[in-house]
Amino acid sequence: MQTSLSPPVIAYIGLGSNLVDPIVQIKSARIAVAAIEGVQEMTFSSLYHSLPMGPQDQPDYVNAVMGVVTKLLPMDLLRNLQHIENIQGRIRTGERWGARTLDLDILTYGDQEIDEPDLIVPHKGIEERSFVLCPLFEIAPELYVPNKGSIVDLIAKCPLSGLKRIN
Ligand code: ATP
Ligand code: MG
Ligand code: MG
Repeated sequence: MQTSLSPPVIAYIGLGSNLVDPIVQIKSARIAVAAIEGVQEMTFSSLYHSLPMGPQDQPDYVNAVMGVVTKLLPMDLLRNLQHIENIQGRIRTGERWGARTLDLDILTYGDQEIDEPDLIVPHKGIEERSFVLCPLFEIAPELYVPNKGSIVDLIAKCPLSGLKRIN
């Protein structure tokens, strides 16, 4: 895949799965993301069980957050993540927040704020999602989410909504 390089930046990636052995999907995705050229794994959270957002007639989710150092520009990182989603059997039915083998979202990219048709960073809705905030806090307790606040403050305001850490 053609990529453009920028100075190294710390980015956080949210991982989610609720189809076809979600724990294995998340572990495979971790290896695939770490293998992207220009991406180096820094930290990886525990796995968490969460209840589905949106349509309720789907299985519970497994979630995690990964911290990386990357030289890829944000759009190149996104394209690489989408490629991994496709390889792991993501089928886009058009249903918002429907069941999926793998979802990889860019949560933050350094201190940048991005508002493009295909990429909004920090990820929209991050402050309402305990399945993102709790694993993110676990690996980046000092993080400030641009334009939203410190991870500590964001967690304090967000209901846990049935989130459980997997031992
Ligand atoms: P949500 O984004 O609310 O978590 P989702 O992850 O299920 O929902 P997807 O179907 O995976 O949504 O992605 C829909 C579109 O969102 C993608 O085509 C992508 O271009 C866009 N998008 C915008 N910002 C981001 C981001 N920060 N990370 C990943 N995708 C993003
Ligand atoms: Mg998502
Ligand atoms: Mg997504």
